[in-house]
Amino acid sequence: MSSPIAKLSFWGVRGSTPTVDPATWRYGGNTPCLELIAPDGTKFILDCGTGLRVLGSRWTSDPSATPATTHILVTHYHWDHIQGLPFFSPLYNETNHFQFYSFRSKFLGPDSLRQVFEAQMALPYFPVDFSAMNARRKFREVEDGESFVLGENRVTTRWLNHPQGCIGFRIETPAGIIVYATDNEPGDAALDKNLCELAADADIFVNDAQFTPGQLATTRKGWGHSSWKEGVRVAREVNAKTLVLFHHDPDSTDRIVDGILRDAREELDSVFAASEGMVITLGAPGEPVQAHMPHARASMRREAQFRACVKGLTADGREFAEETTLRDVALQGALLSLKHAPRLQSELEVVIETPSAEGVQQMRLRGYVVRIEPGVEKGTSGVGVVFTD
Ligand SMILES: [Zn+2]
Ligand SMILES: [Zn+2]
Repeated sequence: MSSPIAKLSFWGVRGSTPTVDPATWRYGGNTPCLELIAPDGTKFILDCGTGLRVLGSRWTSDPSATPATTHILVTHYHWDHIQGLPFFSPLYNETNHFQFYSFRSKFLGPDSLRQVFEAQMALPYFPVDFSAMNARRKFREVEDGESFVLGENRVTTRWLNHPQGCIGFRIETPAGIIVYATDNEPGDAALDKNLCELAADADIFVNDAQFTPGQLATTRKGWGHSSWKEGVRVAREVNAKTLVLFHHDPDSTDRIVDGILRDAREELDSVFAASEGMVITLGAPGEPVQAHMPHARASMRREAQFRACVKGLTADGREFAEETTLRDVALQGALLSLKHAPRLQSELEVVIETPSAEGVQQMRLRGYVVRIEPGVEKGTSGVGVVFTD
């Protein structure tokens, strides 16, 4: 019998506001939205940023993907965590059932989340009102430190340090523990302790990494966010296995996020930068997690046969070099067949050799691994790279 799997998909990873700048394309510009399918089939959505629209389109195109009931956990009411709601098409289908969880805001009073829905869709901000959403919806208020069971999974909440409040969620599934702690600034002793309790022994610890450590100490102090360094520190302190850097700043280009990830990987073994389309699977508590990017965006492809020499790092950090043939050259990247399996989100150097009148010419490119799949030939991996320069 195969072991039960928990599957965590990232549909939106950007903090504060969506971005469409091509320089942020690789990690993605949609605001926070994660989807978790627990081993027992219980389905969760974490936050309702603009990534929620993409998830909704996915469900609509594949009706078998739409579950009977979905549990939607909302961390707080800032725009970037709710702005996808009016655009989530499954909410307009009466056969769907959603159970929402969020806290009572002192600015809104009872039924805070329902009020947020209504206000967002009030005239003249949106063309149809709240009553047009005919899916069955229930709202539940949760408090700091609450713990409840959904299917075979236990959900625990903890208050975090963010302007107007924010709650973090810990979801214990039979396949392992997933912790979602975004929009949190370190420095308040009681709330720092909350974060540590939330993240204790997590298999996947998704943490706010909006700012660099330098920004957090100076110009962005008090803005309610954290850095990769704080995430690494907490992960070490509470034995969280895999850290996922999340809520990227809208001004952080892909190259800046690359640098943040590189810094974090120097201090902790298992770190990923949240990326739209990334899927992390958990097989059993304590087992290393697997990350994939099955939905990496396609681009124009050209078939080709170039000799290439590839240098990079394996998943356990060893350097490798090998000769291969480069196929399917795209405008932004290539699919390589390699005997080595490089680390997802690591850099590769690809030297392409092309014959010319003056002999063989070399083209040296830097690539970034976005995808790893079983190779066409036995013992090889198909490695998708996008070229960065
Ligand atoms: Zn946010
Ligand atoms: Zn916020």
